Amino acid sequence: MYVIAVLKRKHAYDQNMQESKPITRLFSENGLKRNKTIELGSGPAHKLRSVLRAQTGDEITLFNAQDGEWRAVLDSIGKNKASATCQNQLRTPRPEPGPWLAFAPLKKDRLDQIVEKAVELGAERLIPVITARTENRRVKIERLYQQVIDAAEQCERLSVPLVDEPIPLSKLALVWPKDRTLFVGAERRDAKPLVSQAANTPPPHGILVGPEGGFEAQELDAVLKLTISTPVNLGPRILRAETAAIAALAVLQAQAGDWRN
Ligand code: SAH
Repeated sequence: MYVIAVLKRKHAYDQNMQESKPITRLFSENGLKRNKTIELGSGPAHKLRSVLRAQTGDEITLFNAQDGEWRAVLDSIGKNKASATCQNQLRTPRPEPGPWLAFAPLKKDRLDQIVEKAVELGAERLIPVITARTENRRVKIERLYQQVIDAAEQCERLSVPLVDEPIPLSKLALVWPKDRTLFVGAERRDAKPLVSQAANTPPPHGILVGPEGGFEAQELDAVLKLTISTPVNLGPRILRAETAAIAALAVLQAQAGDWRN
C-alpha cells in the first residue's frame, strides 16, 4: 500500500516536472516573424540534439533584441543545423539599457564567471581592456560571445550584450561616450563609495575593474584624468577582480538601473 502511494506520488511528481520543464530559448540573429522558418547553425543544433535531446515538433522560443521573443516549432534537427518555424510573438522588443563593463581579462574560470554574471546582471556592453598587469592577453572573442549568448538565453534577456575586441586601456576613452560616466574601481585610493556615486550621478554608467594584480599607479592616474572618470570604492576589503566586477554591476543596477523598476 505504502509503496504504491509512493510510486503514485513519484509519477505525479515526474509529470509535474515534465510540465514545468522550461521551454528552450535560443538567440537568433535572423529576423523573426510569423510563419518564417529560421535556420539555426551548428551551435544551437548541437545544443538541441546532444544537450537538450530535443525532437522535431518540440516547441522552443527564439529571440533577439529587434524582434522580441517568438514561440517556434522545431522542423528539423541535424548534426550541424536545425530549423524552426515562428508561430506567435510572446514578447515584443523593448530597449534593455544597462551599465557597461570594462575589465581586464582574467584566466579561465574567473573570466567565464565575469562574462556570465555580467550578462545576468544586465550589462549592455563588455569591453576587455589590456592593462599593464593583465593576465590573459589572448582572449578568444568568439568564445566569449558564445558564453554571452548562452547566458542571455538562460536569464531571459532579449538583448545579447556587445562584446568588443580587447583594446589597450589607453584607448578606452576612444570608444567610451562622453556622456557615460566611467566609474573606476580604485581600492587604496581616496575614492567615494560606488553606492553613493551611482545614486547621485545620472545614468548612463559603466565600471572599469582592473586585473588580479591591480592597476599600475601611472595607468590608473591616466584613466582618472579623463573627464568621464570617477574613482570609486567597493567597500573596505580588497575584492578579487571578478567579485569587484559582479558587485559593481549589482550596485549600479540597484542604485541607478533596472533593479529599481
Ligand atoms: N592586487 C591588488 C588588488 C586588485 S583587485 C591589490 O592588492 O592592491 C582587482 C580590481 O578589483 C582592482 O583593480 C579594482 O578595480 C577592483 N577592486 C577590488 N577591490 C576593490 C575595492 N575595495 N574598491 C574598489 N575597487 C576594487
